[in-house]
Amino acid sequence: MGGKISVVGFGPGSHEHITDRAREAIQESQVIIGYNTYVDLIRDLLTDQEIVRTGMTEEVSRAQKAVDLAAAGKAVAVISSGDAGVYGMAGLVYEVLIERGWHSGDQLQVEVVPGISAIHSCAALLGAPIMHDACTISLSDHLTPWTVIEKRIEAAASADFVIALYNPRSGRRTRQIAETQRILLNYRAAQTPVGLVKSAYRDRQLVVRTTLGEMLNYDIGMLTTVIIGNASTFYHDEVMITPRGYQRKYTLDSEVQRLRPGERLRPENEPWSLNSYAEIQNRSSRDWAAEALERLQNAEMKIIDRPDVSNSTRSSAPQSTICEIAVSPGVANKKFSPSQMLLLATLAGDQGELEYTPAHQLIFRTTTDDAEKIVKELREGGMRVLPVGDVIKLKACDFCDGEKFEGISFAEEIAERLAGQSVEKELRIGFNGCAMACYGAVNEDIGLVFRKGRFDLFLGGKTTGRNAGPGQRVAEGIPAEQMPDLLERIIATYQSQAFPGERFHKFFMRMGQIEGFSYQDKPQTIAADAVCGT
Ligand code: SAH
Repeated sequence: MGGKISVVGFGPGSHEHITDRAREAIQESQVIIGYNTYVDLIRDLLTDQEIVRTGMTEEVSRAQKAVDLAAAGKAVAVISSGDAGVYGMAGLVYEVLIERGWHSGDQLQVEVVPGISAIHSCAALLGAPIMHDACTISLSDHLTPWTVIEKRIEAAASADFVIALYNPRSGRRTRQIAETQRILLNYRAAQTPVGLVKSAYRDRQLVVRTTLGEMLNYDIGMLTTVIIGNASTFYHDEVMITPRGYQRKYTLDSEVQRLRPGERLRPENEPWSLNSYAEIQNRSSRDWAAEALERLQNAEMKIIDRPDVSNSTRSSAPQSTICEIAVSPGVANKKFSPSQMLLLATLAGDQGELEYTPAHQLIFRTTTDDAEKIVKELREGGMRVLPVGDVIKLKACDFCDGEKFEGISFAEEIAERLAGQSVEKELRIGFNGCAMACYGAVNEDIGLVFRKGRFDLFLGGKTTGRNAGPGQRVAEGIPAEQMPDLLERIIATYQSQAFPGERFHKFFMRMGQIEGFSYQDKPQTIAADAVCGT
């Protein structure tokens, strides 16, 4: 065995899209073996090579012939359209060689010359549909059981791959494409963009832009590649585009990016990444379970809090659930009365519990089949009842036992408007009624210090951790009546733009400014040298 086999992919069909190496390999060969149509497509490149033409279904004899000729010392080119390694001749040539005892160090050399496959040429004609994870599936069941093909379609569809369907349809195989559409419609909308490209870069090129629901109304044949978009693929005019996700992190209509280059790889700025999960969330399965339980209970709380208008959709049998709620005697009032204590104890029952927390509230927990009733009774008993978890919490001072009462109405208004709303991460608003600020408002996520009818505003306190610190004083003397609206706007910005799980101080730092208040970097910590006397 002394010759050489080059398995050459010559691209979609036009000469501009054939690689230099493919041309050379064809010219270096003495014999060209290929399916009739393919030989015609590269006829201009041939000089005096011997040509062995075969019919379409004669791949095995084509490969055997190539091996025979190469074994006899000839340089042979086996040609495939597109890439020879994608549903082409490369694999089969190797398999026939292996049958004949060939090994990779043998004298008979094999070279696989890459070419532009249909998925790439057809995608280019459509725009940029395979910008994200994509796969190819051949619908030909001549060599592959349909049950396997079906599974692959199902898997690709469920994992939101962009899919390029090769061999979608031929004279006798007409049902496969209809079956494929049926499976895909279980996972993707009928409006999902679908591109049909026939004879890409050949004489009778035809590009059709349609949708998953409509695609069967167009001609699909042996020379068509069908590109199915994923859940985010869209058309802009004629162009089919699958976004890669840049819009998640970059502002595409501005030269100035909100994240500086060094910040873009920080875990908190890509909370969807595997590293971020590990780093930010670095939690045990027990913590995950605890959070799942808490979220479930919050969801329960939401149902309770809203007067129920959808009774008909809920099962009528009462279900015993854990009722977990935050309870306090008032916004400024810090004292539970004896009758309130009694009520709490009675409603909690023997199995229930009351936990005191640093957020100026008790957590009330019990199992019940009528949480709504518990909430109602607590409220009737003069207590404030709010959800627990990642919600807004107002921590007001006691206004010197009510003596400095001017601020109380503002605290109550803010509590009324904001407390209990959901946020990405628990957000505490500290509200202190005079400049003494003895309840530590400045150390909360947002601090409000009320002084003579006006407010000092502190943003971005870091409430926990070894580098905890107070918020930045961003404004002094804000007229009191403007404060609730301003606070509402600040929180609305956080609610709408925070990344998942992002705390307020990190959010403030990332945004650089909120409602015109700018974030200022803190001075660097100086590491003290513990060794004295040097
Ligand atoms: N080796 C080839 C694929 C051969 S299988 C490659 O890499 O492209 C044959 C299938 O390829 C066809 O049914 C069609 O789906 C696709 N195909 C090949 N050439 C094409 C072209 N010029 N335009 C559109 N689809 C093409």
